[in-house]
Amino acid sequence: MTAVEAVQGRPARKRSAGETMHFIDGAFTAGSGRKTFANRSPLDNSLVSTVHEASADDVDAAVRAARAALAGPWDKMALADRSALLHAVADEITRRFDDFLEAEIADTGKPRSLASHIDIPRGAANFKIFADVVKNVPSEFFEMATPDGKGSINYALRVPRGVVGVICPWNLPLLLMTWKVGPALACGNAVVVKPSEETPSTATLLGEVMNAVGMPKGVYNVVHGFGPDSAGEFLTRHPGVNAITFTGETRTGEAIMEAAAKGVRPVSFELGGKNPAIVFADCDMDVAIEATMRSVFANCGQVCLGTERVYVERPIFDAFVARLKAGAEGLKRGDPYDKATNMGPLISHGHRDKVLSYYKKAKTEGANLVTGGGVPRMEGAQESGAWIEPTIWTGLPETSPIVREEIFGPCCHVAPFDTEEEAIRLANDTPYGLACSIYTQNLARGHRVSARIECGIVWVNCWFLRDLRTPFGGSKHSGIGREGGVHSLEFYTELRNVCIKL
Ligand code: NAD
Repeated sequence: MTAVEAVQGRPARKRSAGETMHFIDGAFTAGSGRKTFANRSPLDNSLVSTVHEASADDVDAAVRAARAALAGPWDKMALADRSALLHAVADEITRRFDDFLEAEIADTGKPRSLASHIDIPRGAANFKIFADVVKNVPSEFFEMATPDGKGSINYALRVPRGVVGVICPWNLPLLLMTWKVGPALACGNAVVVKPSEETPSTATLLGEVMNAVGMPKGVYNVVHGFGPDSAGEFLTRHPGVNAITFTGETRTGEAIMEAAAKGVRPVSFELGGKNPAIVFADCDMDVAIEATMRSVFANCGQVCLGTERVYVERPIFDAFVARLKAGAEGLKRGDPYDKATNMGPLISHGHRDKVLSYYKKAKTEGANLVTGGGVPRMEGAQESGAWIEPTIWTGLPETSPIVREEIFGPCCHVAPFDTEEEAIRLANDTPYGLACSIYTQNLARGHRVSARIECGIVWVNCWFLRDLRTPFGGSKHSGIGREGGVHSLEFYTELRNVCIKL
């Protein structure tokens, strides 16, 4: 079977369903396990592909392949050649843009307009940026006097960690996976990737890209399966894995941290959020509405950086809520390939059940439902999809689970505030600390408030405006460490000091 057949991440209307294989040591394989699971489209519940589930032996084979690769041509490759190879990976992703696009849409149901602007271009960009970063990082150097007067010099070498286990979520599958694989490979590591069970296709397709550009075998491996007692746990507990990078839910991070404790292995975690937006009365309302519409509803609300708590200064509260409501009611669901579609389904029926449980809770807690709150009527086959209405509430106390817990759906609670001090207190009153957006035309206030928000990323008058050289990560329960630009090197390399007596 070819990799193209193996990926099968195609909308049902374009291809019939096939199998999704592991990619181990440069080859697509069903592995030794007998288990498979169904990858279903959230658009209409049709079968996208049958996915092979990795056994512990399959994961072991992938880790061994990665270890072997570290001792092969990959280790001897000059930095400039490694960098050029990663540029070739990016170029090949771009050349096969439509294949990646179709694969991502088949797995997630997200609109083409979104995937073609964000997911796939970032998949390529994530290789380019780190291919360049590693070529441009200076080393530190210290001269030191010695009693015999001859002196010594010290310099620091950056060496790869070894085999990196990469565990990914389903919301931005290619983007978030390459955000880790790009720097890991740029730094000279080998990787074993465990994509989300919901979105196995683009990670598999990337195996085909790796072979096309001549990536040495075993540098990039993919195993499929679930978390506990499956590929995820087998990988994180494998003693041959030197470091683990994970994006996903905070409580999964806790389980992975426990696994990583055995062998004292480093972790990099990008976890959940309950991100606030603070809208001051002196904002440019058009800017605030446009950005909040995206931060609440983009990707059907399934973005870790998304806004689920909106605090609006009282004089503009009613006008803001009215405009957000109009925006939400103007979103168009349906065929992801239709240019007008700007809202897809949730990732699965299981996730929709979770989001709907919050919709129900909001009702029982007495929320004022501004719009949405249920499941929309869809036509034809899409009746069986995981569709949901964009939803806005007001009127709940800050203690409500709607305001405190990550829902990860197209919804937000909007509450008024009266003073800057109150807005900062409300924004910080959460165990999470990933991102915050502030809308104001007062530059001094923008700086002042940004400095006091407890989170990893503050956006002023924008949202999801990303320069890949900047540090990315969360505070509090939202993560450990920062990735992006040179910050990724802190995790994907170790510093070795060399001291030479002259
Ligand atoms: P998840 O934690 O359920 O799953 C993520 C991955 O972990 C999957 O591949 C899953 O199979 C694997 N996994 C689950 N249990 C495991 C275990 N015990 N051991 C090893 N692997 C295990 O998350 P999800 O539902 O896929 O993604 C949504 C979550 O991800 C949200 O909480 C969201 O906020 C978060 N997220 C964070 C960021 C960020 O940058 N901070 C980005 C995207 C998503």
